[in-house]
Amino acid sequence: MPLDILTLLVLTSTNLFTLAAALPLLMGRRVSASARYAQGSILAQAIGWAAVIAAGRWYDPQLSTLSMGSIALSQWLLFRALRGWLGARSGEGLLIALVVITPLGYALAFHDYQWRVGWANFLLALSMLVVARATLWPQKKASRGWRWLLCGCLVTMAFFTGARGVLGAFFTELYPYFRAPHPVNILAAVAGNATLVLGLVAVLVAWREEAEAELHTLAMSDPLTGLLNRRGFHDHAQALLSDARRRSEPLTLLALDIDHFKRINDTHGHEAGDRGLKLFSRVLRTNQRGVDLVARLGGEEFCVLFARSSREAGLAFDARLRERLREVSRSELGFEIDFSAGLAVHTDAEQSLDQLLARADAALYEAKRNGRGRLVQAID
Ligand code: GH3
Ligand code: MG
Ligand code: MG
Repeated sequence: MPLDILTLLVLTSTNLFTLAAALPLLMGRRVSASARYAQGSILAQAIGWAAVIAAGRWYDPQLSTLSMGSIALSQWLLFRALRGWLGARSGEGLLIALVVITPLGYALAFHDYQWRVGWANFLLALSMLVVARATLWPQKKASRGWRWLLCGCLVTMAFFTGARGVLGAFFTELYPYFRAPHPVNILAAVAGNATLVLGLVAVLVAWREEAEAELHTLAMSDPLTGLLNRRGFHDHAQALLSDARRRSEPLTLLALDIDHFKRINDTHGHEAGDRGLKLFSRVLRTNQRGVDLVARLGGEEFCVLFARSSREAGLAFDARLRERLREVSRSELGFEIDFSAGLAVHTDAEQSLDQLLARADAALYEAKRNGRGRLVQAID
């Protein structure tokens, strides 16, 4: 069965355009920047292939140069999507440079078939490899198979694109024009269709993973303050507690409760109370270290878990917090906020997180009974 390059390319381009139109409808208006970049990458690919097909008939230098630029651009856009999904990774500077120099070199060398075909295909293959690398490195624990799938698609396309470059630059008689029915060219076009389908699956799974991660974050955090909620605290604290046990390191918990908060609500209104809670959270956050956990356990009750820290860290934090709050609450809220605190140190490896929380709570209760606005330490 003879496979015709033009038919294969028209199919690739049609599928890409259909996807570029369908994906925004499927994904909806409120999508992340990453999903938008992925959509943009598919559109740029669609334009690239359509331009290369059209260049066979009209405006050749211009349309085929546009094609090279669009395909290089689609790689950069895919990289941006990955960056949003997986975090910072290297190679973006090179990709941006390739978006510029690939079509530029192609246009300048247009009169020389070997040069332009070699140049454009090698650089496009390079940009695909840079993005392929970015799918896997640096690693991120939570992610699953879609990264390998996307990487496989990119490496496959980089291989065939590079092969087109080798044919055009060094075996020109075997590949004298873009639609030449050389087996490698036909295989490349078939692989283009297959990787399009698989690449799309990978992008959709990445998008679903992003939505799952968002739901997880929502379930673990408090909407008013953005701090961890009780569930999020338990999850993370268990991990810190296990670490502390394994390494025989101390762990200190500070339970905090704003004093007479009901009175603040009654006097200044619920909305002012909310502003107070946000301010309290902000001061907590700006005074914590990256390794500590800060959470709003409910209402006007908060806690801080100090990793690898003993009693002194908790006492110093409490003192700093009191001082900062006194400074900012009057100026920013128009009234003062004070709090009581209970401090418990995890010394007994057998002690559970709930037991540690109960001890800190008992000390906090003691601080309330002793007149509020103070810290009480639990007895070890
Ligand atoms: P104490 O010094 O003994 O802790 O007294 P308190 O008034 O702070 O404690 P109490 O438990 O009696 O009251 C807590 C108040 O916190 C009651 C509740 O309306 C208020 N509260 C809980 N969640 C929120 C919230 O999200 N926003 C506001 N504005 N108030 C809240
Ligand atoms: Mg209170
Ligand atoms: Mg309370």
